[in-house]
Amino acid sequence: MTNERLRGELKKKNLRITSQRESIFSFFVEHKGEHFTPDEIYRLVSRKNSHSNISKATIYRTIQMLVEMKLLSKIDLDDGFERYELKEASGHQHHHLICTICGKVYELDEDLLDDLEKIIEERTGFKVKDHQLKIYGICQDCLADAAKQPKLKLKASKK
Ligand SMILES: [Zn+2]
Ligand SMILES: [Zn+2]
Ligand SMILES: [Zn+2]
Repeated sequence: MTNERLRGELKKKNLRITSQRESIFSFFVEHKGEHFTPDEIYRLVSRKNSHSNISKATIYRTIQMLVEMKLLSKIDLDDGFERYELKEASGHQHHHLICTICGKVYELDEDLLDDLEKIIEERTGFKVKDHQLKIYGICQDCLADAAKQPKLKLKASKK
């Protein structure tokens, strides 16, 4: 099972390993790179585990617990929903590229901000501990779609 991380954290806190906690955490491990609202998690997890009844309240409570245990991150992708994703074991959360046309979110695995942190520390004496970053733009799919659209031709008017 992929639940070593969960088991370790539950043990540290003297909490029981329950099948519900395992199902919810496994769901995030299986959907690494995706970002879910609590309602989506409720729908998808109960569909997958149709034998066990997981209530909405349990889903919410478990998500909060997993966030406190630093196994999940709460993120805001500017779509008006509270979303959650698997927290990086490294402690540093990856960054997101948000397409302003289709709303798709892409993950940026590479972190290019170490230099920026150093510069900030040198210039301001501020001890940087972490950062978050959202980049807005147009994704490759939307750029390709835009290229396919016939461009409006402007007629040059004769003087
Ligand atoms: Zn993400
Ligand atoms: Zn797009
Ligand atoms: Zn970063």
